[in-house]
Amino acid sequence: MMLPGERHVLLQSHEEMLLRQPVTLQPGRANRPTRVATHCPYCALQCGMQISGPREQAAVTGNETFPVNKGGLCVKGWNAAELLDHPERLLHPLVRDSGGTLVPASWDEALTRVAQAFQDLQQRYGKDAVGLFGSGSLTNEKAYLLGKFARVALGTSQVDYNGRFCMASSAAASNIAFGLDRGLPFPVEDISQAEVIVLIGSNAAETMPPLMQYFEAQRTNGGKLIVIDPRTTATARNATLHLRLTPGSDAALANGLLHILARDGFLDTDYIETRTEGFAAVKASIATYWPERVERITGVPEASLVQAARMLGRAQSALILTARGGEQQSQGVNNTLAYINIALALGLVGRLYSGYGCLTGQGNGQGGREHGQKADQLPGYRKISDPAARKHVAAVWGIDEETLPTAGKSAYEMLSSLGHENGVRGLFVLGSNIAVSAPRALYVQERLRALDFLVVADFFLSETAQMADVVLPAAQWAEEEGTMTNLEGRVIRRKRAYAPPVTVRTDSEILCELAARLGKGAYFAFTSPREIFDELRRASAQGLADYSGITYQKIEGQQGVFWPCPSEDHPGTRRLFQDTFPTPSGRARFSAIRHQDPAETPDAEYPLYLTTGRLLAQYQSGTQTRRVARLREMAPHPQVEIHPTTARQYGLSNGDMAHLTTRRGSALFMVKVTTTIREDTVFVPFHWGGRQSVNRLTNPALDPTSRMPEFKV
Ligand code: SF4
Repeated sequence: MMLPGERHVLLQSHEEMLLRQPVTLQPGRANRPTRVATHCPYCALQCGMQISGPREQAAVTGNETFPVNKGGLCVKGWNAAELLDHPERLLHPLVRDSGGTLVPASWDEALTRVAQAFQDLQQRYGKDAVGLFGSGSLTNEKAYLLGKFARVALGTSQVDYNGRFCMASSAAASNIAFGLDRGLPFPVEDISQAEVIVLIGSNAAETMPPLMQYFEAQRTNGGKLIVIDPRTTATARNATLHLRLTPGSDAALANGLLHILARDGFLDTDYIETRTEGFAAVKASIATYWPERVERITGVPEASLVQAARMLGRAQSALILTARGGEQQSQGVNNTLAYINIALALGLVGRLYSGYGCLTGQGNGQGGREHGQKADQLPGYRKISDPAARKHVAAVWGIDEETLPTAGKSAYEMLSSLGHENGVRGLFVLGSNIAVSAPRALYVQERLRALDFLVVADFFLSETAQMADVVLPAAQWAEEEGTMTNLEGRVIRRKRAYAPPVTVRTDSEILCELAARLGKGAYFAFTSPREIFDELRRASAQGLADYSGITYQKIEGQQGVFWPCPSEDHPGTRRLFQDTFPTPSGRARFSAIRHQDPAETPDAEYPLYLTTGRLLAQYQSGTQTRRVARLREMAPHPQVEIHPTTARQYGLSNGDMAHLTTRRGSALFMVKVTTTIREDTVFVPFHWGGRQSVNRLTNPALDPTSRMPEFKV
């Protein structure tokens, strides 16, 4: 246990540490980097960019030498620096006073209040009364530290993160099928070489524009693109073939395609025989998915199904790429497994310029799901239920293995437990705006209000922070060091370009300081992110996501290192599964999948499907992008997209305001009449809060394996 004086010393040393970190400054011009090569704060493409100029006029340029985006950025990346000096930025801790108002406070006062509240709650209700909610936007170091903080500083099992609302279904499916989940098990450059690509539920042209250079190169090379999406998106418009399926019918569509491929003799029987297991059950299960039936379920004409299957079956190389469309459903894992079955049956996985991959969405969606901020997981993609994993990680952390908690609740299950007896009573949220991004948002807000204590670390007063008892102002992406793992599994370095304002701290500093106040400072005596990374490397050693051979220097030298990288002389692994799979038999596993209806289907009372998604100019809950002038100009508010026939039926025209209502609640949106949406479906983007929050309407029905809510149907 540290003495009060020692805590104070630690606090100071962290401030000093923050200022000591190396920044390339022009001589005599404090806080003006000559040019720092780093990465975008937003999505999983993690485009390389350079920042230059004084922070109040920081300029961003694309980094042409970074092999993923090759200099390209989208409008979000170009405008990322605007938030560094934004007038609404939080610069001081805030605490709620006796009158219920958030007022400025010192760090000492704020952190004392947090530590005290957590200790009181744990004494009264047990260790699991305090929970943590992390984010797929945290660096690897912070995600690792958060998981360790939960298990070591608080001893709680209640830790999970918003990646459950993003990539969890694909991650679970890949683990089942391949024994390993790395979003893309190959570099993005393979996209340009594939003869055929099937892209499912992704509007990459809007969400990741720099990625489209690879699709354009693929088309120039004579390649074909099949898009599966209920909407005619910008991506679908440029496809060779667009299968406009009914929301929630992915598994039927995938089974139908596999049925035709088998019927027409396109399967790779040698591959099935030598590299997979479980095909017999799949063969039996797809027998009933004849094209007429699949057309009835999916709304996709039989001729298009046959055309897609033949394109795919005849290709020498093909990629099957899924994204949130098929994954964010209560059948998300099964949908993904059904698409993986096609990749395995055609012998694509492990073949050059071929395979299955998931286009991860969140900035560190990949690394964020590998190192322990997930309820059932320890660093290195280890299972918390695995005795060998517990032993290894406990040894690295220097704790008794017996004190490691077991698996906690998944994200939505933890949120629905808030304030209930035996539920979480005190919650710490980092880098997430759950009041907007969680499904059934009104209920989640009710649960947040029922908490005894809520603390939020963020750099703006998000909708969730507005509800907090204590708000801790955090450093932004360009103000701290760390690593991120992009959608290819490439570990890259996010470099600090500016010192954060002196009154602001990094999430890592906050966690270390709080650990000290909870009497666990000895386990969190880190003086830099690099030290945290070095411990993460040891904790991940010999795990599935093995980072032990990755160093900051190596990342620099190689423009990123692909995991697994088990030793410092190992170059990293660009392509996986070429010879074997990390399953007990070394074979990939088929799964027999049956189509099931979504948790809710249209009926007389609620006659339309609702689907949700992203826009080019906004990102996630919009906490950041809604504050950027250019992005606000491009997308000032959400619109409900509705087909002209449906709009006529409801007497709606462009620009009208329409109430959308589901069994969870109502929200108000401006109408956009468009033929890009099916007649039976409406679409709303999810980047806004309050009465414009589409997550007031979404269904928290969870996938039984990934615990992913049904955002898309
Ligand atoms: Fe940033 Fe993603 Fe846009 Fe690249 S595509 S600039 S990583 S938001």
